[in-house]
Amino acid sequence: MSRVKGLGNERTELALVKLFRRHKVRGWRRRFSLFGKPDFVFPRARVAVFVDGCFWHSCKEHGSLPHSNRAFWRAKLERNKARDLLVNRALGQRGWIVIRVWQHELTQSAGAACVTRIRKTLAECAGPRPRLPQFRKRSILLAVREDVVRSDRLADLLGTELLVPNSDPDATMVSVREALSHLPPVAAGDEHPKIPNHRTRTLSELNLKRLAAAKPGASNAYMEQTKFGDLSLDCHRKVNRRLRVRCFSDVYTRMHPDRPSPTITTKCHSISNGRFGHYDIRQMRGISLREAAVLQSFPTGYVFYPKDQIEPVARMIGNAVPPKLAAYFAEYLANSVEP
Ligand SMILES: [Zn+2]
Repeated sequence: MSRVKGLGNERTELALVKLFRRHKVRGWRRRFSLFGKPDFVFPRARVAVFVDGCFWHSCKEHGSLPHSNRAFWRAKLERNKARDLLVNRALGQRGWIVIRVWQHELTQSAGAACVTRIRKTLAECAGPRPRLPQFRKRSILLAVREDVVRSDRLADLLGTELLVPNSDPDATMVSVREALSHLPPVAAGDEHPKIPNHRTRTLSELNLKRLAAAKPGASNAYMEQTKFGDLSLDCHRKVNRRLRVRCFSDVYTRMHPDRPSPTITTKCHSISNGRFGHYDIRQMRGISLREAAVLQSFPTGYVFYPKDQIEPVARMIGNAVPPKLAAYFAEYLANSVEP
């Protein structure tokens, strides 16, 4: 935003540099290449700090309109305001947290409070990022009461839209193998004596044969030619022929070991309802309820009841909002209200 910055801005920025040094705030960069040209960037925490001049950004206490050329100045200052919101929004959507500091906050007396505010945000952003071993597409609606929402969380000038990150750029992909390899084998229809909910559904002879021929991550085209002959389903053949494409290609298949899992649904216990076969070809079974819960990011000690049943537990697991996803947005919401 150098275009709209007065000569005083360099001096204001230096005032913040001094404050950072005095209060031993580390990890910031200046002239970091990022949309909107933030004055300070904390790359690790993904926090961008803008120092806004009271005149150029129309501070409520010190902003004013020059006496001459009023129409010109009004339009110009309005444009600056719109631009600030655009920058907040664009950075917010890329997973950055934006902090705007007023020029008047950088005085001897107010400086410490300003540093505390930045410190608090940095601490919030330094926490562990969610790691979800699953592809899941869902709409999520977030709302904050307008009388308590932090102004830098608003995406539009009317204050009617909350800025919501559509991805967490620091999150890392977790593969099915990484998430599940610590769990011991169990047979189809069995239950592990010690690990609660590590229980799998029984498979018919036919489905055991199918799974024996299924390759991890591959489609179910294999079913037409197995060492047991053609094991494909009549109904699938009919639909495929009529629509001239292969439908239901994910059912009776195994998960890909090196990718996140498919969406865990309420039918996650059944290989005829999706790609729910275990990724390891030595295991002739669908995933266990415990494994489905791990893929949904439930903690290991979280036990589902009734322990001796499959369907009701699978419904709870499949219908759940993944706890790590919920935690991420809960934290975001908690940080969206004025302290
Ligand atoms: Zn001011």
